[in-house]
Amino acid sequence: MRRKAIVVGAGVFGASIADHLAANRWKVELIEQYEPGHARQSSGGETRLIRYSHGTAEWYAMLAYRARELWHGLERDAGEQLLLRSGVVWFAHREGGWESDSAATLARLGIPARTLEASELERMFPSIETRDLAFALHEPQGGVLMARRAVRALVRRAQRRGVTVTAAPAVPDGDAVVVGGEKRRADVVVWACGPWLPGLFPGVVTASVTHQDVIYVGAPAGWATPDVPGWVDYDGAMYGTGDVEGTGFKLGPDFEGEPIDPDSLDRLPTQRSIDMTRTYLRRRFPALGAAPIVMTRTCQYTSTPDANWIVAPHPEHPSVWIVGGGSGHGFKHGPALGEHVGRLISGALEPDPILGLGRRSPGRNLRTAGVEGAGT
Ligand SMILES: Cc1cc2nc3c(=O)[nH]c(=O)nc-3n(C[C@H](O)[C@H](O)[C@H](O)COP(=O)(O)OP(=O)(O)OC[C@H]3O[C@@H](n4cnc5c(N)ncnc54)[C@H](O)[C@@H]3O)c2cc1C
Repeated sequence: MRRKAIVVGAGVFGASIADHLAANRWKVELIEQYEPGHARQSSGGETRLIRYSHGTAEWYAMLAYRARELWHGLERDAGEQLLLRSGVVWFAHREGGWESDSAATLARLGIPARTLEASELERMFPSIETRDLAFALHEPQGGVLMARRAVRALVRRAQRRGVTVTAAPAVPDGDAVVVGGEKRRADVVVWACGPWLPGLFPGVVTASVTHQDVIYVGAPAGWATPDVPGWVDYDGAMYGTGDVEGTGFKLGPDFEGEPIDPDSLDRLPTQRSIDMTRTYLRRRFPALGAAPIVMTRTCQYTSTPDANWIVAPHPEHPSVWIVGGGSGHGFKHGPALGEHVGRLISGALEPDPILGLGRRSPGRNLRTAGVEGAGT
């Protein structure tokens, strides 16, 4: 008999898990309180970077590289482009730092990356200041995912594979799921509820949910991605892309903002984010120093203390799984994480304590900001 799963949450994690389970003959119900890809979920932005550099962390690098293959498969199934083949460039301020660790790890894993001459960097961006950089690391197979569109494509494919989607808020009750006062049961329940997880599982899930802004500035011709690569300034706590579909040149100030409630937050940028963006633009991309803000997006990170995600069975209900704590760098991995969770719940893999619900030591080195921030 086919086993049944209930997956709560249709962000990139829940949608990927539901899609993968359905492809492997599970009967799946996906429950989402709003629309898949909605503006309040962490996965609902315009774009997200895909990069393979993760410092010394091989597992995340390999998972992201596997995800690239699976994103290409989704593009073929959906008949639309979801991953812009732009490459990603890291602006390294020093030798021997995170970018050097990443370069060594990628070389070991056979994932393409190479350092660029300043002149090559200058050809990639119409105006860039490179004098403060020790080197730049280029990942030619990195790129930009069309995030909201990709989540919706995942859910559509999951539906074609037989997943039923229920539009309602769900509440945990032991190993069951309560929807509209009715208790539902399954062989396995997965709660993939992003920033809602700490509120749904108080005392079980520890993660901070913080305000994060993305600022888009108007840029003239020549600044569009995929010609302009995705870029990350790890020590400068800033990342971005070129203009995608006329939305503007994107910058993400990558410090952790104030704690927020994902339901009630007014999604407006803070003055601090705007000021950091302006200062960075003037310094790194001088020609855009005075460019007008044409669009903003406000989202949230759900960060664990050490930036490793949570992928773990509930301590009291072994058939209930908690998946989240994306910590500002989960999107790109979505479909590969779906595959990983499929192996865990079918017993083919043992849960990794690094992704467990226990105590964690503070650390942020999986993210794109080595200073105090998070992201990508
Ligand atoms: C500004 C910003 C930039 C980022 N940049 C990148 C990047 O460049 N690259 C990258 O890889 N990652 C990036 N990330 C991180 C990435 O977006 C997240 O890690 C990822 O989207 C998390 O997905 P999720 O499915 O866990 O959560 P979500 O996308 O938030 O999905 C959770 C879903 O669960 C639903 N839900 C919650 N509670 C309930 C309930 N009780 N009943 C029913 N439904 C419920 C919610 O409505 C929501 O749709 C970024 C994040 C932000 C905020």
